[in-house]
Amino acid sequence: MNTDRIRENLASVQDRIVAAARRAGRDPSTVTLVAVTKKRPVELVRPLLEAGARDLGENYPQELWEKVDALSDSPMPIRWHLIGHLQGNKARRTFPMVRMIHAVDSLKLLQTLDELAAESANPPEVCLQVNTSHEEAKHGWKDASILDDSQAIAACTRIKVVGLMTMAAWGTDAETARPSFVRLRAIRDSLARLTGRPLPHLSMGMSNDFEAAVEEGATLVRVGSALFEGAEP
Ligand SMILES: *Cc1c(COP(=O)(O)O)cnc(C)c1O
Repeated sequence: MNTDRIRENLASVQDRIVAAARRAGRDPSTVTLVAVTKKRPVELVRPLLEAGARDLGENYPQELWEKVDALSDSPMPIRWHLIGHLQGNKARRTFPMVRMIHAVDSLKLLQTLDELAAESANPPEVCLQVNTSHEEAKHGWKDASILDDSQAIAACTRIKVVGLMTMAAWGTDAETARPSFVRLRAIRDSLARLTGRPLPHLSMGMSNDFEAAVEEGATLVRVGSALFEGAEP
């Protein structure tokens, strides 16, 4: 395990985010790096926290619960994000642990979370997942079909819907992924108009394509492998 390498990787990803934001004329402080720790042991997550990461993302609820527990002794405050698919029956337990749920992928799940939010003092914010790459395996509303649900989404007033999330097609690089990001922003603009909600957040961009995502307006990038490169035995 090479903890220096994790520190260097984090600094490099942060620098690349700042540079991409500046290229697009954006304020770099409007972009949050969510460090994706899925499948990494807590021994690799602690050095990331020591190096300054504060927002951590997990994919699977079960693994999230375990990590939250294992890192509950962390002297650094952690903001947890669930970035993967959430089954309705795991929502209640997950709800109080996370700052944001990125991948709400159906109206039914949104409505379940809206009911949970009514009982919660500090409910997480949520983003709605849109499948902009047209890959069948991906969760979420199929592209602009989310606009058909705008009234039902607007009716969920107890949960804080703050934006949209997407994943570019597998195996793409920044330039082939870019159209997905442009598309998500356009759909967000339309949905914001139709719902009357500002929807300020765009959760998009991973290790291979986060700079293009920042250039196209990402406010949250979800980066995993680029942070751990060379650090694992
Ligand atoms: C794993 C994962 C990421 C991070 O991917 P990397 O390519 O490792 O940066 C981001 N978002 C989601 C939804 C993921 O499952």
